[in-house]
Amino acid sequence: MLKKITLASLLAMSLTAPAAYALDFGSIIDSVGGIAQAAGVSDKAVKGIGAATDGVKAYALSDAEVNAYAAQMAVQIDSKNTIAPASSPYTQRLNKIMKGWGTVDGLKLNFKVYMAQEANAFAMGDGTVRINSGLMDIMTDDELRFVLGHEIGHVRLGHSKAHLKTALASSAVFKGAAAAGGRASQIAGSEYAQLADKFLSAQFSQAHENASDTYGLQLLKVKKINLQAAVTSMNKIAALGDSGGGLMSTHPSSKDRVSNLQKQIDTMR
Ligand SMILES: [Zn+2]
Repeated sequence: MLKKITLASLLAMSLTAPAAYALDFGSIIDSVGGIAQAAGVSDKAVKGIGAATDGVKAYALSDAEVNAYAAQMAVQIDSKNTIAPASSPYTQRLNKIMKGWGTVDGLKLNFKVYMAQEANAFAMGDGTVRINSGLMDIMTDDELRFVLGHEIGHVRLGHSKAHLKTALASSAVFKGAAAAGGRASQIAGSEYAQLADKFLSAQFSQAHENASDTYGLQLLKVKKINLQAAVTSMNKIAALGDSGGGLMSTHPSSKDRVSNLQKQIDTMR
């Protein structure tokens, strides 16, 4: 029997509440916000995605709801992967790399390593951050910090929320609730596995990639980390080619991204 989860219980499970967000580097958010706007990915734009074509996509999702859905999807994704134990050298290295990154931009993060070869990493609205051991194998500590900063950027700039809306729009249960004029008061546990698959396989646009690159770069600067790691990490991902899967398919790289990053680095020095 499918376990039904009410929205109320989901919200209770939500790890963070927007009201509790306290920016620990407000200036970054200002600059990133400006960049996001320039890239055409303002909050307003995200909210308006698909409004004309699909009532479900126009459905206003609060941050608390996004976090609640993300937390449920994270449970599904974790259950399908082998999580490195606390004693694993991978976990110990990640903990060392991410020391001081417990809360970034008001988002309380929880990091875990998946024992998987594919070069991949992702972050979600509830603060879930996951990275594959295969990606850790090919990158330096600073390069990994950039990749994870970039992933956090997708969350904080609203890109992940847009992907979640798209995934929800394909959910029969969610559509039914929206069509009835109500909130999605209940969603089956098994639905989250499908939602998670759709969410994880969605590809980011180049505009979103560039905005998140800038966000990751700003994070490195605040953390006083070698900025050039942003460029070298991207070159490593690009070198994997189409066989790289993971980051290569969901975060398409391009020469423009690398040159945009280098230009920004040159002005930040
Ligand atoms: Zn990306």
